[in-house]
Amino acid sequence: MGPPGAGKGTQGELLAETLGVSRLSTGDMLREARRAGTELGREARRYMDAGELVPDDVIVGMIGEALDAPAGTSSFVFDGFPRTIEQARGLDELLVARGEELDAVIDLAVGDEELVARISGRRVCESCDAVTHVSTVGDASRCEACGGRLIQRTDDRPETVRRRLQVYRDLTRPVLDYYRESVTPLMTVDGTGAVEEIQDRLMTALQRLAV
Ligand code: AMP
Repeated sequence: MGPPGAGKGTQGELLAETLGVSRLSTGDMLREARRAGTELGREARRYMDAGELVPDDVIVGMIGEALDAPAGTSSFVFDGFPRTIEQARGLDELLVARGEELDAVIDLAVGDEELVARISGRRVCESCDAVTHVSTVGDASRCEACGGRLIQRTDDRPETVRRRLQVYRDLTRPVLDYYRESVTPLMTVDGTGAVEEIQDRLMTALQRLAV
């Protein structure tokens, strides 16, 4: 968990790779649906472009389906989910029904000023979702990995970012209190510094839990 721009995608991907598990990113799943032009994608677009959250039942349904799909692993890193208390309750139900539980919740902490700087310089590949930053790629227009076009996400524009940060404060931050009051360990990890440094902190915190 963490506000927009905290590095959930980058750190989630590394974590899933290190642990040898699948990463389930609701943001990536929604963007994929948009690219594929499915009904879900069309419905999600208007919420995403406005910086609002896609309705809880849609998201929980999507995660339920993903948990049932054969993924070659029964462990997951959730990225950007749950984002509301209702989704956290929905996830609890999905897990109980499967006799599973959450090992830990990780909150990536980054201050507002840095979030805005990160998001305004973020560029993503239109084809493969790879994320880069203008501070590293300069004015390059093509993805290093696949050659796809590098673009700014429509929801990374300043007016939408302001709304996303507000939505995070109003709806997502309370989810941290939900977990604080639960049996699931909640760890806050400093999300500033180099990518590898943050990953080290994250792994150290997880190892303390012996996950
Ligand atoms: P992200 O890539 O995680 O920043 O997500 C981009 C956008 O997708 C968000 O601003 C929401 O509009 C939507 N989204 C992603 N995950 C969720 C979620 N768990 N619940 C509701 N909307 C979501």
